[in-house]
Amino acid sequence: MRQDWISLATARLPRYTSYPTAADFSDMPDGHAVRSAMDRITPETSLGVYVHVPFCEKLCWYCGCATTVPNGYRRVSSFVDVLMKEIDVWRNHLPAHADMRHLHFGGGSPNSLNCGDFREIINHIKLAFGVDEDIEIDIELDPRTTTDAFIETLASCGVTRASLGVQTLSDPVQKAINRIQPRHMVTAKLAHLRQNGIRRINMDLMYGLPLQTREDVKEAAQYAADVGADRISLFGYAHVPWFAKHQRAIRDEDLPGLEERFEQARVGHEVLTGEGYVAIGLDHYARPEDSLAQSLRDGTIRRTFQGYTDNPCKTLIGLGPSAISEMPGGFFQTSKAQPIWRAQVEGGVLPISRGVLQSADDKVRARAIETVMSTMRVDIADVAREMRAPVRALEPALDAARKLEPLGLCTVSGTIVEVPEEARMMLRTVASCFDWRLASSEGRHAVAV
Ligand code: SF4
Repeated sequence: MRQDWISLATARLPRYTSYPTAADFSDMPDGHAVRSAMDRITPETSLGVYVHVPFCEKLCWYCGCATTVPNGYRRVSSFVDVLMKEIDVWRNHLPAHADMRHLHFGGGSPNSLNCGDFREIINHIKLAFGVDEDIEIDIELDPRTTTDAFIETLASCGVTRASLGVQTLSDPVQKAINRIQPRHMVTAKLAHLRQNGIRRINMDLMYGLPLQTREDVKEAAQYAADVGADRISLFGYAHVPWFAKHQRAIRDEDLPGLEERFEQARVGHEVLTGEGYVAIGLDHYARPEDSLAQSLRDGTIRRTFQGYTDNPCKTLIGLGPSAISEMPGGFFQTSKAQPIWRAQVEGGVLPISRGVLQSADDKVRARAIETVMSTMRVDIADVAREMRAPVRALEPALDAARKLEPLGLCTVSGTIVEVPEEARMMLRTVASCFDWRLASSEGRHAVAV
């Protein structure tokens, strides 16, 4: 890593899975804004739906997700009752019927649901929101707690893609993060998914974990490639113990330093690209024939709260506590506190607690940020044309990007900003040139690398 990148790499920056980012959300308790945004949904709108299942059997110390340990099924069962009502609340507020093209189950661990409940939820969602014939249904799975019966249920419910949380194969690292998961366990779940016809497989890996070494990252990346995962994410561990309190169980002295993190990411990148994977944006890899790699080639790739995606839906309904919805004109989030979410749903109101409205200027910046975060290149003239905005709206961002040129983080040529391969890990720094809101939210993000 170049020494003159260090101060920028330690800056706290958003991951830019939306713009404005979640750090810009503020209280929005009356639901008025989301109702007026929903009025702009037309019958032609393709819907995406995200279901947040906020339970895990055990907490991993590195986790930054909104999840809790239910200690038995009673709390999960009561969550399912409210979720079914929430589906009805959203359906009753939708102004026009629109077909669902993408359905994603995340969390937490969606496999905390029992088979019967999962089946009921998915059937209820399909009835409420309609189903496009090309629908992709994907789910995040914890290999430690996913049963074979659950996998068979997924297959019979039409799930098309599964994302297995692997993170690391190293024993000491697994102990340090409270996630013991032997390799044979992952391999067995993968085999059962494929035997049941769920052949599109994602694997999530991490670098920068406590006690992790480059060899560990290399081993996990090689494993994911050897078993033929279609998509692989290689996320850097974000140590934010003031936000995720259980991360306090991770000792600061066990964490790799900045330059080691950079090297771990580089080693993972080398293994995966050496195995023929296409590098996508900050931290994703896809086999060349996978639809995500295809979307990078044809320019339709997007970056959303679920990361990089070829899902074209620009309207997303988020179900469950802490879920974020994307509507024409803004982002809206349900309360992370299950009792608040529950009370709102029981009262028949849209359970929105926080959010941010997207101004016309935000939309132009959002498109520029999404483009550079996905393709490592953005032509502001193209963005201005697509968004029907004057190019001058983005010109100050070009000036900011020019200041990064001497550092080798990007080149600016006419209206084009391009990030060289060696600065891929610093993409967020270049994207931040387009972010006029950053100064007010900087302290609330994880470091850039
Ligand atoms: S299984 Fe996933 S969501 Fe659950 S605690 Fe571990 S990292 Fe967090």
